[in-house]
Amino acid sequence: MNRRFFCNALGFFGVGATLPLTACSAGASKKKFPLQLSEAEWRKLLPYDRFQVLRNDATEPSGSSALNKEENAGTYTCAGCNLPLFSSVNKYDSGTGWPSFWQPLHADNIGTTKDFKLILPRTEYHCARCGGHQGHIFDDGPRPTGKRYCNNGLALKFVPEDEALPDLV
Ligand SMILES: [Zn+2]
Repeated sequence: MNRRFFCNALGFFGVGATLPLTACSAGASKKKFPLQLSEAEWRKLLPYDRFQVLRNDATEPSGSSALNKEENAGTYTCAGCNLPLFSSVNKYDSGTGWPSFWQPLHADNIGTTKDFKLILPRTEYHCARCGGHQGHIFDDGPRPTGKRYCNNGLALKFVPEDEALPDLV
């Protein structure tokens, strides 16, 4: 088993313990989304690490994404289907080790589910087009929304503002 990826359940409480990837249940990925690909098609399309996050709700290790330090102007698209999800305008350094945003680019491009992997329910969010898991929403973000969209860097691609957005998958 590849143990680089774990549910972020216990991490929410700051506990160093980990759950194996197999303990992560795919909630959002079971629903119907505009873009429907089979598991085999997703595996062909995505590198292993992106597949684990997007399709299996895994969480990358804190501080592992180069996007944490990305400060250029541009758009963050879903790494599964290229749908634009966030703008650099709404990105901030949350100090958590995951790329963080205080609001999505378009509310319609994000879908949410209640995640009961912990005792307290959390709000999971995903790409509204392909259902790819992105992260969780917390209420400790900066003004004006007070929200923190805590995103896996592996679930995003950064497109600098002087480059054309990629075609949707
Ligand atoms: Zn997507």
